[in-house]
Amino acid sequence: MALTGLDIYKLLPKTNCKKCGRPTCLAFAMQLAQKKANLSDCPDVSEAAKNVLGAASAPPIKLVTVGTGARQVQIGEENVLFRHEEKFYHPTGVAVTIRDDLNEADFSDRLKKINGLKIARVGTEIEIDLIAIINTSNNAEKFAEAAKKVSGGSHLSIILSSESVDTMKAALQNCAEKRPLIHGANAGNCEAMAGLANEKKCPMTVTAPTLEELADLAERVKKAGVEDVVLDVSGSNPKEVLQKLTKIRRAALKKNFRAFGFPMITFVHDEDPFQEISLANTYLLKYAGIVAVDACEPWAIMPLLTARTNIFTDPQKPIQVEPKLYAVGDVREDSPILFTTNFSLTYYTVEGEVESSRVPAYILSVDTGGTSVLTAYSGDKLNDKVVAKAMTDAKVETKVKHKKLIIPGLVAVMSGKLQETLGWEILVGPREASGLPSYLKTVWKP
Ligand code: SF4
Repeated sequence: MALTGLDIYKLLPKTNCKKCGRPTCLAFAMQLAQKKANLSDCPDVSEAAKNVLGAASAPPIKLVTVGTGARQVQIGEENVLFRHEEKFYHPTGVAVTIRDDLNEADFSDRLKKINGLKIARVGTEIEIDLIAIINTSNNAEKFAEAAKKVSGGSHLSIILSSESVDTMKAALQNCAEKRPLIHGANAGNCEAMAGLANEKKCPMTVTAPTLEELADLAERVKKAGVEDVVLDVSGSNPKEVLQKLTKIRRAALKKNFRAFGFPMITFVHDEDPFQEISLANTYLLKYAGIVAVDACEPWAIMPLLTARTNIFTDPQKPIQVEPKLYAVGDVREDSPILFTTNFSLTYYTVEGEVESSRVPAYILSVDTGGTSVLTAYSGDKLNDKVVAKAMTDAKVETKVKHKKLIIPGLVAVMSGKLQETLGWEILVGPREASGLPSYLKTVWKP
């Protein structure tokens, strides 16, 4: 458990010397407990107290980095069980496997396919993070060759999966500079694998059939000097995996059980790709730091990336687009103008439908603090004055010759007031964005 202010106070010098910039040791202790101060601010704290306080102020789940540079994946350092309590900080890394026993052509086809797994969502391109090389061949040369090909032919971070220490060593010769995650340490080889992790400065996983054995292995590799550990969680059925993931997260956060104070990885295999992705999604939500799947079709990866984007946003900050006038297509002076709010999901839904109509149009994104049309209207963040200001700020009258504004059908009730305030003709559009293509093609007249 985290130390309270009083627990911390007992370990301080209690001289109230103010060198830390606080009036008393107690005030400093209270701020330290709330993580608003650094222990190093007190120059007189004893070494013994530093050891206790330093360990207590460490995050309950360690931050582990796999890979290097801009594409590195950071997992762990989460503080809560439930997103609404605060937020989740480090998005789950999505990994796709590649076997080292594929023939040359199949290997390079799959590698190319994995490299291209990205989707555009609410204006952002999102993609997978890692490629997990599986030593299915049981052959050190083939594994090392696969590591070389992936290291040279992919921008993704790497997971090396083999239980053989010699095979792992051979592969590391070809990609250690990419700081891959070493996967395959178990009760029989964990010290030797830890030796490799230390030598190459790479993170490593530990795998065990039960939680007790997993905790024991984590302690063993820590004793061997490895700090960046990832717990490999598996089970004979999805319920067992989910229970283990949840128990480990709870033990780390609620009991401050240090052996479980690491992020987790889980590999998901199922003959049925729908089932595989559904399970991977479940583990991504609770609480895998990395999920590795075999499926490598874009339609299979899309739900994973979408769920990740949703769960790792700050629940208190709606995703927004910049409030301004957007031109969709080759707009002219007689193009229609419609408005919506700056809530990303709403904006991009409207934009997608306008695009599919093939009628060039302006979309005015009105600043409602990132809320949807009805929410903004009921909270009085969307009214005639707000829309009028948005029109003025965007200099809408200089873009078109007509004076017609299409408003969302959901706020048809605004039309009278808006017409009065703007002096423009107000056209009530469809209630749903899906009605826009036919509205723009058949109803709109400049
Ligand atoms: S510097 Fe240390 S001893 Fe001095 S008041 Fe602050 S906490 Fe107390």
